Amino acid sequence: MAVNASAEQQQALLDVQAIDTKLLQVAHRRKQIAEVAQAHELEVQLGSIDMKIVAAITEVSDLDLDRAKAEADVEQVVNRANRDKERMDSGSVSAKDLAGLQSELESLAKRQSELEDVELEIMQNLEEARAAHAELKAQREIVEAQLRDVEGARDEQLNQLAAQEAEFIEQKKSAVQGLPADLITLYDKVRDDLGGVGAALLQHGECKGCHIALDSDELSRIRGLAADVVVRCEQCRRILIRTSESGL
Ligand SMILES: [Zn+2]
Repeated sequence: MAVNASAEQQQALLDVQAIDTKLLQVAHRRKQIAEVAQAHELEVQLGSIDMKIVAAITEVSDLDLDRAKAEADVEQVVNRANRDKERMDSGSVSAKDLAGLQSELESLAKRQSELEDVELEIMQNLEEARAAHAELKAQREIVEAQLRDVEGARDEQLNQLAAQEAEFIEQKKSAVQGLPADLITLYDKVRDDLGGVGAALLQHGECKGCHIALDSDELSRIRGLAADVVVRCEQCRRILIRTSESGL
């Protein structure tokens, strides 16, 4: 399908191309914002810390239950020993029972000491688990603060780019006004296919899209074409824009 447009309209395509190139640069810069990847990394870190915090809370609460049970165990033995001592002190115990009570008291003392060792160990573990939990919460605060900073820097750059993009889009709207629809359709298609450049200046016999010099036959063919014929580069298929510096 042959596309025709006046020389002025074709040259206006270079302005459109310049704006599209700026839009492409904005998109490229958006992908290069280091803080986007950094924020993602910090979010992953936070997720991992949160999982550890859940495990730490479970450990603290389990050890707390163990501690309560160990305490109750010790208390039970102490109560039993106290009752035995009261009976011994009451003076109403026979010599035989007294020997039995003394022997039981010895066993209870041994049992109490063992249970207290267990309780002590649990208390130590509980203390360590609480310290680990506190450490994780402190770590979380540090990472969270880092994430807030990084997100702030990221959003600032994204907002700047969005503002630039909006401005370029407005510029493009007025730049394409009055250009033939089929010219824009062709330009957009070529631009999509060819990495963002749809129209290129023909400068001193060279296509500025692919930077390949046109041969003399092709140059003389183009020289013979009417000004409103839309020319394509033989090499890269981009729309070639003729101006006074085309070397024709
Ligand atoms: Zn070319």
